[in-house]
Amino acid sequence: MAKVIRAIETKLIHAGEPEPLIGGAVAMPIFQSATFAYRGEQTYHDLRYIRLSNTPNHEVLHRKLAALENAEAALVTASGMAAISTTLLALLGADGHLLAQDCLYGGTHDLLTSDLPALGIKTDFIDGNDPASWRQRLTQRTRAIYVETVSNPLMGVADLRAVVEFANAHGLVSIIDNTFASPVNFRPAEMGFDLSLHSCTKYLNGHSDIVAGAVIGRSELVRKVAHKLNHLGGVLDPHACFLLHRGMKTLAVRVRYQNESALKIARFLEAHPKVRQVNYPGLESSPDHLRACELLDGFGGMLSFEVEGGVAAANGFIAHVTLPISAPSLGGVESLITRPATTSHSGMSAEERSRAGIAEGLIRFSVGLEATEDLIEDFTRALAAC
Ligand code: PLP
Repeated sequence: MAKVIRAIETKLIHAGEPEPLIGGAVAMPIFQSATFAYRGEQTYHDLRYIRLSNTPNHEVLHRKLAALENAEAALVTASGMAAISTTLLALLGADGHLLAQDCLYGGTHDLLTSDLPALGIKTDFIDGNDPASWRQRLTQRTRAIYVETVSNPLMGVADLRAVVEFANAHGLVSIIDNTFASPVNFRPAEMGFDLSLHSCTKYLNGHSDIVAGAVIGRSELVRKVAHKLNHLGGVLDPHACFLLHRGMKTLAVRVRYQNESALKIARFLEAHPKVRQVNYPGLESSPDHLRACELLDGFGGMLSFEVEGGVAAANGFIAHVTLPISAPSLGGVESLITRPATTSHSGMSAEERSRAGIAEGLIRFSVGLEATEDLIEDFTRALAAC
């Protein structure tokens, strides 16, 4: 009888797995072979070779990732930035134009403002909450519109439905970086997005031990990106594929716990007299709360906040917490804390950060799997000391 694979928890374990199991192995074996014997392939892109992302370790991930987001196809890449850069290069072409949300991961922002213009690719930034203003930014060369599900580091949720409608109305490819939400909290293909991108370094792998990326969505577009990746070479190696596959199996239990824990911590911070501002879409005070309730299945494990006293107090707080590790990145089992002005968004000028609403003293917190009470106790002590 065929397996019943419906819920995301079941897909994480069973979707896309080889049948029958290879040699009976319950865990996917690592195919550490650069090349594979010919089986009558017709084109260059079908030869089996690690750089062409078609070893058994790649293919199992492609099937599973597509199933998780109810999308047609998926492709893994060597990092989140490889997924983003390869996708944009594949879709925009020379002299292409992109509309992108104004508050984005700093690496993406740098790629759009520092690297792509040299190739003739231009970007105009748009306010994700103001669809009426997008039309005036369209040009003859606009090919795509790019947003993040939950924006980094202010945790805003843009008008995602309007993005899909706008893209459909104007013949653009709609692209969304779904890293912060993960497929547990949001599945872009269900809303009609053409492509969803991930830094699998974060929630999908979840253990802070690899960098990896993914492109998930319509098969003809994923194929186009895959062909570009075959030439640019930013592919995931089989051992990293194995680690990503292993980490992904626990995605749902991790993310659901992180959703709950982050909401409790956000509420604690919001009620604390030394905290000036908390950014978390699960809080009723968030300007995007109602939209987040409507669009997302969970508010995520990321929050950001400002303490009274600016940069000095923020540095004092980070120095006094004992459980979170002061390090960039997010989405792992351990809580991580950073100041975006010095880490993820340091590539932006102070003026650009200020325009995007990112205070110099803003603290970003990635909630891990520690007990929520222990994290709150740690925060209470650090707030008293800073
Ligand atoms: N997208 C988002 C939202 C991120 O936060 C990051 C990294 O922090 C990236 C993409 C880039 O991912 P990677 O570091 O795997 O290249």
